[in-house]
Amino acid sequence: MAAPADFEPRDTGKLAAHDQRDAEALTEIGACENHSDPITRERGWPAVCISSVVQHGTAQKLIFMGRAIELARHAVASGSGGPFGCVIVKNGEVVAEGFNQVRSTRDPTAHGEMVGLRAAAQRLGTADLSGCEIYNISVPCPMCLAALYWAKVSKLYYACLPEDADAAGFDNVKIARYLQLPLETQPLKSERIETLHAAALEAYRSWSPG
Ligand SMILES: [Zn+2]
Repeated sequence: MAAPADFEPRDTGKLAAHDQRDAEALTEIGACENHSDPITRERGWPAVCISSVVQHGTAQKLIFMGRAIELARHAVASGSGGPFGCVIVKNGEVVAEGFNQVRSTRDPTAHGEMVGLRAAAQRLGTADLSGCEIYNISVPCPMCLAALYWAKVSKLYYACLPEDADAAGFDNVKIARYLQLPLETQPLKSERIETLHAAALEAYRSWSPG
């Protein structure tokens, strides 16, 4: 099933890419006492059985996504927030993890992806996350999908679709539809204070792109 048009980036490049083979393989992931993996052992993660997957790169994808799902479960179990988790990877190495902390921090923007992006940026010492890939339990909400663009993340892996979040009671689909409307017809009331446009532009003019 394809993602709704609401969530298709205009650029049909990296963020829209989706490997159907990997998506099918994801259904085979599961805890297993008989199989393990160096990354799994090193990090103390639950052993994952991926018996039909022979390509190491694909196996890594499943392990990273399995970890994102584990983090999502942790967010719920710990009471920190909704069932959302992610792992951010660069050159095959995990640089950061994130899970939803909206409830525990009382921060409406503390979605798993935002938490993960902030941690990755701190770890790497830059707001430019070019070359990073994010393994996220789902297609991000509009805020987080935009944040992936701001951070210049190179690739998104996901398992759940926006309609899954919608069915679970989250507003992803609703907000995406709002954003397609002209600002003046969106449910959020807005008003332009045009008399200060020139003064506001002065702030822009003081900025020079790095
Ligand atoms: Zn989000």
